[in-house]
Amino acid sequence: MCSFVPRTVFQSIIDDETASEEAKRDAQNQIDAITQTLTSISSSAKAGSKAWTRYDTIPTGFEEFSCKIWGMATRNYSEISYETGEVLGSSYQPLPGILYSASQDPPYEQDPDVNICMGHLRTTYDFYKTVMGRNSIDGKGKQLEASIHYSIRYGNAIWEKNSQQMVFGDGDGSSRFGRRAGVFKPGSMVGSLDVTAHEVTHGVTQNTAGFEYIGQSGALNESMSDLFGSMVLQWKQVQTVEEASWLIGAGILYEGSESLKGKKAQATSLRSMKDPASPSNLDPQPDHKNHALYYKGTTWDHGGVHRNSGVPNHAFYKVAMRLGGYSWDRAGKIWYATLTDKRMHPQTTFVEFAKVTVDQAGRLHPDDPSVADVVATAWKEVGVL
Ligand SMILES: [Zn+2]
Repeated sequence: MCSFVPRTVFQSIIDDETASEEAKRDAQNQIDAITQTLTSISSSAKAGSKAWTRYDTIPTGFEEFSCKIWGMATRNYSEISYETGEVLGSSYQPLPGILYSASQDPPYEQDPDVNICMGHLRTTYDFYKTVMGRNSIDGKGKQLEASIHYSIRYGNAIWEKNSQQMVFGDGDGSSRFGRRAGVFKPGSMVGSLDVTAHEVTHGVTQNTAGFEYIGQSGALNESMSDLFGSMVLQWKQVQTVEEASWLIGAGILYEGSESLKGKKAQATSLRSMKDPASPSNLDPQPDHKNHALYYKGTTWDHGGVHRNSGVPNHAFYKVAMRLGGYSWDRAGKIWYATLTDKRMHPQTTFVEFAKVTVDQAGRLHPDDPSVADVVATAWKEVGVL
């Protein structure tokens, strides 16, 4: 299971001596929620083959884009919870929940989040189809599935690899007793295109390179999701590399919250591909393999998958900036060709990945060797080659 927000983000609030007790308590609740999600999802995935068989029913004529949006029946409880200050009830329902809408249905107008979610899935699908020539996450038009309103005050979005679906929480931010608490703005997870594209890309990676979610291969897995997430957003907004913010999760933080004081006071987004180590990121990352933030252990955050992804993220940023224009035209296609290259394997290292990007740059641009040079130089500058 890949979560958009690593639990270490919440742990850093608990460890911050300047954070309030309330903020620490909220952060601990989010860590407990991720743990409970893991338990409840794995038990429901084991409960039967339902998760697999529900993909068999893509209706004729909808192979091109097909999706289902599911919802959780715990929503009413979450509204009560907001008022009373009681947080994170114990109801973690088995996924996917109840069916809200499907791509062939009329819009579900009672709940704007359904249409927002479907729109972001559609945009991400269209990006992969029209730019990369890929028909959905498996290349064969697989139906995209997402469950929204998951749990109560859940500040995360996840890719659940067993049932191959996305799960969106409503955000842990809430206003109670006249004060703001929590890290993520209500509705911001489902409301952000880069978050959705990040999660869909976990599905693409699972169906292609299959990078194992640990150590360097896990950091590559996270990096693919961040850089395609950013690219889908740039593509939708028709931004050049100069115009793009290169931020991951811009606008999702709950501004003015008790939980974002202390050491997190400067945070304006979750991560940045342009400036991974900046304190303006809620979760700063290394921009070089020798940077002090580079995690060398094996236990924490699956071996630092959300931390060390800053290195390949920054290499991609450098390549895109130097090639100029639109990121998806050249840099994105080199990275996509690498992700789908037969030389990729579950334990692919940074060095192996980097070498194939250089190779693919040369293959895609046989008349312009400077492109492969740009790619090789970027990897050298982040300490990988
Ligand atoms: Zn992720």
